[in-house]
Amino acid sequence: MTDSSVRRAVDPQAFREEVRDFALTLPGDLRHKVMNNLKLEKADYVSYLKVLEARGWIVGHWPAAYGGCDWTPLQRFIFEEETSEAGAPWLIPFGVNYVGPILYTFGSQSQKDRFLPRIRSSEDWWAQGYSEPGAGSDLAGLRTRAVRDGDHYVVTGQKIWTTYVQWADWIFCLVRTRQEDRPQKGISFLLIDMKSPGITIRPIITMDMCHDVNEVFFDEVRVPVENLVGEEGGGWTYAKVLLSNERVLVAEVGRSTRQLRRLDKLAAETSRNGKPLRDYGPFARRLAELKLRHFVLQSTCYQAVAEAMAGNEPGAEASLMKIRGSELQQDIAEAMVDALGLAGIVYDAADLAEMGHTPAEGPFEAPGILKDHLHGRAATIYGGSNEIQRNIIAKLALGL
Ligand SMILES: Cc1cc2nc3c(=O)[nH]c(=O)nc-3n(C[C@H](O)[C@H](O)[C@H](O)COP(=O)(O)OP(=O)(O)OC[C@H]3O[C@@H](n4cnc5c(N)ncnc54)[C@H](O)[C@@H]3O)c2cc1C
Repeated sequence: MTDSSVRRAVDPQAFREEVRDFALTLPGDLRHKVMNNLKLEKADYVSYLKVLEARGWIVGHWPAAYGGCDWTPLQRFIFEEETSEAGAPWLIPFGVNYVGPILYTFGSQSQKDRFLPRIRSSEDWWAQGYSEPGAGSDLAGLRTRAVRDGDHYVVTGQKIWTTYVQWADWIFCLVRTRQEDRPQKGISFLLIDMKSPGITIRPIITMDMCHDVNEVFFDEVRVPVENLVGEEGGGWTYAKVLLSNERVLVAEVGRSTRQLRRLDKLAAETSRNGKPLRDYGPFARRLAELKLRHFVLQSTCYQAVAEAMAGNEPGAEASLMKIRGSELQQDIAEAMVDALGLAGIVYDAADLAEMGHTPAEGPFEAPGILKDHLHGRAATIYGGSNEIQRNIIAKLALGL
């Protein structure tokens, strides 16, 4: 029997029930925070990762040879769907989903030995240093340069929008090691210790008044040559592999299932002209349309998973799921804010910090709903903006 036939033998329904049972054992206060979009700190995310580690599922999708469970694409999808729906926190992807797979695919043996165990145990936290001012959609235009000096690269430049780098021990960066005619050719993939002298982090406070993203400045930071992943100048190839992983994940179907359920509850508990909002014609239609879009997205994701199970690479579908998933998230959040009515006027980020805190206006849920709405405006930008995804579809699916 081949490896792949063993993997396909897993009963999806039994696995789904196993994940569902597991999700119910997550700490109640953590689920409460997630369900209500309250503020999560690093300790909250770590506590989730520790529960996953204890269950042996922290890197379920990695090959068994690197400490994973060899999950099939279907198992991975079921896991994400069920845990998100049940109120598990966002599985911060920079270590387990992004740099980990890059390292076991393209890294040296000593990089695998050094970094993979520490990702699995959450000892090392990673951040993603791709985007720069002027190089987001046009990533190949990045200018942070790494100049070889003996056994080191000397890195100078700036990254931006770097999520949770304030918590990170390491950052993986795309840097320019050479000027080439094709800008993609001179890019390399470097692992940089955040404790290195010459690194400065400047917080960016977004319109939800939270500190999730940052600017990172590198001023002649010395990085040992052994921290180069793969070939010098090969970074663009590794970056593309990583980005395609990112797009499939951002459909976030399980999260939308959870948010739709909240919207349903809110619409049942809120009254308009003496009857529940969910029975008010225009709102009922809006709710029904959102549920239909969710169903279609979920079906599309399962089709893409079936393709992946058959060994086919995601093509334009990854972009389609990113567009539809992010738009759905935003529209559900907007419907929730509308359902709040006047209580949606007041937003104070401090209300997100305390569990059970009642804001000045409206129900306990109001601050979390508003934060989700404000933060979610970025969903159509990060992971490759939706306009860029439409360009990809035009090229791959329509041949334009
Ligand atoms: C909350 C958040 C978290 C993020 N986290 C990270 C992170 O951890 N690490 C990281 O490296 N990056 C991160 N990013 C950056 C993200 O990947 C970029 O913001 C994204 O790629 C867009 O790039 P940009 O912001 O430079 O916008 P630009 O590329 O300047 O685009 C501006 C606008 O022009 C449109 N546009 C640009 N080019 C085209 C085109 N060719 N055709 C049509 N329209 C076009 C875009 O769609 C967009 O609407 C994050 C961003 C956000 C908002």
